[in-house]
Amino acid sequence: MTVQFAFDNLYAQLPERFYARLAPTPVAGPRLIRVNKGLAETLGLDPDALAGPDGVAILSGNQPAEGAASIALAYAGHQFGNFVPQLGDGRAILLGEVVGRDGLRRDIQLKGAGPTPFSRRGDGRAALGPVLREYLVSEAMAALGVPTTRALAAVTTGEAVMREGLMPGGILTRVASSHMRVGTFQYFAARNDTDGIRLLADHAIARHYPDAATAADPYRAFLAGVVARQAELIARWLLIGFIHGVMNTDNMSISGETIDYGPCAFMDEYDPATVFSSIDRDARYAYGNQPNIGLWNLTRLAETLLPLLDPDESAAIEIARGVLGTFGPRFQALYVDGLRRKIGLAVDRDGDADLTLDLLKLMAANNADFTLTFRKLADGTARDLFIDVAAFDAWHDHWQRRLAFESASPEARRTAMRAVNPAFIPRNHRVEAALNAAIERRDFEPFDTLMTILSRPFDDQPEYAEYMLPPEESERVRQTFCGT
Ligand code: AMP
Ligand code: MG
Repeated sequence: MTVQFAFDNLYAQLPERFYARLAPTPVAGPRLIRVNKGLAETLGLDPDALAGPDGVAILSGNQPAEGAASIALAYAGHQFGNFVPQLGDGRAILLGEVVGRDGLRRDIQLKGAGPTPFSRRGDGRAALGPVLREYLVSEAMAALGVPTTRALAAVTTGEAVMREGLMPGGILTRVASSHMRVGTFQYFAARNDTDGIRLLADHAIARHYPDAATAADPYRAFLAGVVARQAELIARWLLIGFIHGVMNTDNMSISGETIDYGPCAFMDEYDPATVFSSIDRDARYAYGNQPNIGLWNLTRLAETLLPLLDPDESAAIEIARGVLGTFGPRFQALYVDGLRRKIGLAVDRDGDADLTLDLLKLMAANNADFTLTFRKLADGTARDLFIDVAAFDAWHDHWQRRLAFESASPEARRTAMRAVNPAFIPRNHRVEAALNAAIERRDFEPFDTLMTILSRPFDDQPEYAEYMLPPEESERVRQTFCGT
């Protein structure tokens, strides 16, 4: 059985200053943890071959994949608001691009594949814990219907990496519709390389925003497209309680996918100020601040595009302002619309936004679990989650009066609500337990169980009912770490 990626590499045809060409560094003892069979098939790969010795040799970087044009990408970025003119793939190597059976082009990248010219002081490697975490959470996000990079495979390297002590090393095969970031544009802008910005924008348009190519002003349409997709993405995050945790501009994808699952987390009880990341000391990337940061990052993108928007800088700034001004209204409309659907409202009426916001306020005041509240509203059992039962009853009466204006039957409404309100999310205490078992005891059973449950987040799975529950006080995870 051979493993044949049908590579068709476009990014590697961009000028040499966009990347460094190099191969992954081999590892001592590669061993497969998991292959994503469904995704392998979408990519036109034989999942069994990929899980076999030839496949594992490629997935660990020990053997070059035929047809690969392996490169580490150059990018810059604002990290917690501070600009770093050169970051780049310090431990990730893009093998190439594959057009899948669905006709979509995707990057195949090994994350943790060894040092590159962008590694700075890093070792170019990844610890197994963060590899499994990204595998689990990115696949859960995909099952929840959120645009995201995917995980094709995870391997252990048989080598130790030094983090908070020695940890087993791992490599994730990440699949993304591309790896262009806001920070990639910033890399060229920081070098006053307007030709580079134009080449990158043209590549991004061809790949992700083909309609912009024929618009009156392609670069304006491109910026508008990225703004729209990010508004939609961040609305989706908020609607499922997701906190990215490190929304640096190098971690914001041009394609509109969620990328880089470092210290990400899901919120249990609703509180917009929630932060888990140990390095986010100023709560810059708190749950409720994500739309603000999204716009901040997009403003940095717009700055890099000014030379393309108009030769006259003040005219260019006016164009950029106009486009950035669409973010807020678009985010708000999508967010409120999503909240309305979460409480079963299909027709649009005055007062709906207030009704949903009243529920969120009530949840915050009662430390009610975000995910369970919406799921149980559909089933008529949410009352138990509130300490101030009278306040909940008052809201519930109001909601019931509003539902009288809906035409759907109660059963149809319940079905619709359950289709947008997951029963299962990757709760931090479950993720942590699964990773601890894998790393401390080489026991991958909790990881596999969690993967199985999270592949069907909207289905009741009565045998796994306890996985719906928030943590006991003793199980609560208070902080997450990048672990890079
Ligand atoms: P991240 O926090 O994963 O978004 O990474 C930020 C930057 O640090 C990127 O340029 C990464 O490539 C780089 N980086 C993170 N971890 C390592 C590592 N272990 N070795 C080399 N570079 C790294
Ligand atoms: Mg990153």
